[in-house]
Amino acid sequence: MTPIKPPGVANVPDLPDLTDQIRMLVAVHVERDGMCEGCLNTWARLAPHPCRWAQWAHAWLAEPTSGTSPQP
Ligand SMILES: [Zn+2]
Repeated sequence: MTPIKPPGVANVPDLPDLTDQIRMLVAVHVERDGMCEGCLNTWARLAPHPCRWAQWAHAWLAEPTSGTSPQP
């Protein structure tokens, strides 16, 4: 049986969940020897830290927007 949502709920972004994901992104994309460890582990890619994902995540946490995350 599907729970019935109040009107309008479906249109509300799942911000807490997205915030959790972005906090995880920040936790993963940390500096190691001047490079981003998260990018290295995730994509085997050397990116100077802060990488664009870390930059985006920090910007989003400072001011949540409807923008989408950068693509790899
Ligand atoms: Zn990174």
